[in-house]
Amino acid sequence: MYGVLAVLLLWALALWSLRRELAAAWAEPCLRHPVMVFEGDDWGYGAPGQAAALHDIAAVLRRHRDTAGRHPVMTLGVILAGPGAGATPHEALHAARVTVADARMAPVVEAMRAGVADGVFDLQLHGMEHYHPDALLRASANDPALRDWLATAPFAETEALPSPLQSRWTDASVLPSVALSEADIRDRVAQEVALFRQCFGATPEVVVPPTFVWNETVERAWAAEGVRFLVTPGERYEMRGADGLPVDTGIDYRNGQRSASGLVAMVRDDYFEPVRGHRAPRGLAALDAKWSQRRPALLETHRANFVGASAQHAASLQAMDELLAAALAARPALRFVTVAELARQYCAGGELLDRRPASRLRALLHRMDRPGRRRKLAALLLALTGAALFAAAW
Ligand SMILES: [Zn+2]
Repeated sequence: MYGVLAVLLLWALALWSLRRELAAAWAEPCLRHPVMVFEGDDWGYGAPGQAAALHDIAAVLRRHRDTAGRHPVMTLGVILAGPGAGATPHEALHAARVTVADARMAPVVEAMRAGVADGVFDLQLHGMEHYHPDALLRASANDPALRDWLATAPFAETEALPSPLQSRWTDASVLPSVALSEADIRDRVAQEVALFRQCFGATPEVVVPPTFVWNETVERAWAAEGVRFLVTPGERYEMRGADGLPVDTGIDYRNGQRSASGLVAMVRDDYFEPVRGHRAPRGLAALDAKWSQRRPALLETHRANFVGASAQHAASLQAMDELLAAALAARPALRFVTVAELARQYCAGGELLDRRPASRLRALLHRMDRPGRRRKLAALLLALTGAALFAAAW
């Protein structure tokens, strides 16, 4: 009798130790249908040939439809500006800067607009530049490779920059990186939102922080400029460490969560990068795992698959085409939406959400069934059951 009570008590303790994770997993809404979105980052400034690549991607997306008649969507995380041809790094980064409003960028902007009109693209703010201009300028003073990179402007490929310097919202000219001033952040956010509005006729609804490094000040500045939704990898990194890698903060996000800044988070933590060998089975596995958790499969992918020095354009198009065909065959109820539409549904409780307790409970079990947590729970229960047996024998 006491043994049984002891085991029940210890199980209750085990659940209590997981209460935060359980509460977060329970609070996140559940989807009613499987959802898949390609999230294409880094489009805009840079690499010639983007217009043709975008037209080809749009043609692949237009070949497929879900049961509601919708085409699959690739969101385009737009980079609005980059260095121009200048006699000095300062001139290249400032006076000679090229933006998407430049006449030479018109074919790319046109390709984006055409895809949006066809319902296969949706534009998201990625940033004015895919770096912090002052940080890059300071770093270039001591680094000939950076000066060589700047000399390839206009239309230099930011993918070729050292990874820490691709972070826009921390000063990685030194490592560990240094926080930016609030005034600098607010000013740059106001400028990037204004240019996005000027070029595309609307305030961006969704923002994707470059390299997923940002902080609360940046988030509040975006919210103040009218941005509503924030794409995250499920957690926030605020700086680059001494090794150049993003530093964990322990700040987590879940789909549909309204953060203190007022932005509503979406989670993108699956990848579909054909240049890294990702093919249809990888995308399908991500879709299956996310659907079992009643979450959307947001597949991160980059311009570099389709255009630029290391692109495999034809193979990447084929990989996307095959994934779409396979996903529709495996999951006939699959739905295609934009991330902004999805986020609006999470906020307003739209028809894509499932509130039935049985669905939510099933999703909860799958959401908790992750390697790290499973090990933690198994170790805990083993120890507790051992203790309970010992107590019962005694
Ligand atoms: Zn990027």
